Amino acid sequence: MSGKKLTINDLGEFGFIARFSRCFTRNLPGGVLGIGDDCAVLPWKGDLKLLVTTDLLVDGVHFLSEKISPQDLGYKALAVNLSDIAAMGGRPRWAFLSIAIPPGTRIDWLDDFFRGWRQLEKKTGVRLLGGDTTRSKAGFVVNVAVLGEVRAKNLKLRSTARPGDVVTVTGTLGDSEGGLRLILRESENGRPGPEEKFLLRRHYRPHPHLEEGQFLSSQPGVRAMIDVSDGIDSDLRRIIERSGCGIEVYLEKLPVSPALEKCCAKYGWNLEEVAAAGGEDYCLLLTVAPEKFPELAGKFYRRFKRQLAAIGRVTDRKNQLIYLRHQKPVTPGKTGFDHFK
Ligand SMILES: [Mg+2]
Repeated sequence: MSGKKLTINDLGEFGFIARFSRCFTRNLPGGVLGIGDDCAVLPWKGDLKLLVTTDLLVDGVHFLSEKISPQDLGYKALAVNLSDIAAMGGRPRWAFLSIAIPPGTRIDWLDDFFRGWRQLEKKTGVRLLGGDTTRSKAGFVVNVAVLGEVRAKNLKLRSTARPGDVVTVTGTLGDSEGGLRLILRESENGRPGPEEKFLLRRHYRPHPHLEEGQFLSSQPGVRAMIDVSDGIDSDLRRIIERSGCGIEVYLEKLPVSPALEKCCAKYGWNLEEVAAAGGEDYCLLLTVAPEKFPELAGKFYRRFKRQLAAIGRVTDRKNQLIYLRHQKPVTPGKTGFDHFK
């Protein structure tokens, strides 16, 4: 690198956080958890902890304003933040919304944005308390912050996985990536069939797994938890890094929807790649003590009528994410979505 100035492209998102977070995580007061998990954690009242998360959505990077409806954008901007509260086992309480709006934006666009937001607000009980509004010269920018709460004993972190734990997910993987691929090839598509509609909906209206997170965090044996925002390839690496462990993933066990299977066959997508590296599913990814897993999976099924699929195992091989297909190691062709590269 001699003579060449580093740019943000060289660092990538992981490198950026590693470089600049160091001085902000040292010497925090007792009971405060700063940068490094899905939410910051602060002391709150009684046996409750306060959770704080924020997410930035930029037109052209995280969404395409000419493709997504304003209702879906309003819904999704809140959903992605609620998913981080879910990952800690928490309950969302308050939200703040800051939005940069291009001049000439129609008021009915904004009405629809807030209609979408309100639909999810009503379902989850979160209340909007404030934010900021400004003019934008380059597309919409939406920043949401959500505050939530969790009982201290139910708080789940990324840093508590242990070798031998079962790795599992609360939903199907790759649906949102499938939806995104359909959006990007839209000009070539005819009218969307039921499978296409399913994947598009999963992309535009992600369901934050709040009930699942609250249920799982109260169960014995649940150790580390994170939400699937960038794809399990990236999100498993976050658990590995924070827990100082390794993980092996069984590719043939990744849960995929029938709609995704059909679209992969129809459009020639690699199903394993879409499931392992596709982002924005917003289900939960967790590790569970092996002796507790069968009972937990049974309870989860009775409550949510979905399988808790065991997709891998935590190992003591530090920093190693290994993919196996029927017990044989394989190298995936693509890693998760990195925001700066
Ligand atoms: Mg997250």
